Amino acid sequence: MIRLTTENTTKAIERCKTLRPKVKFVKDRMFAVHSANNSNVYHVKFDVRGGEKFGVCECRASEKGLVCYHLVAGATVNIYRQGLKRQTA
Ligand SMILES: [Zn+2]
Repeated sequence: MIRLTTENTTKAIERCKTLRPKVKFVKDRMFAVHSANNSNVYHVKFDVRGGEKFGVCECRASEKGLVCYHLVAGATVNIYRQGLKRQTA
């Protein structure tokens, strides 16, 4: 998994804002993100260890250790869901 930091997510956030990929919730901390360029769907997973955020995607960028816009798209929805859970708890 890739550790998500402000530095390595900035570019992906910009791409995500431009491309606005569709994200579907699969299960807790796992999402399916539709590619903006073709019909591919990438599954992204998240984890939190020792207060640090980690994520992994199925695409080639992620294999190289890069943060892709799929990860950022999934993370945005993940944070939103966590917020909802807190509100209803
Ligand atoms: Zn990806």
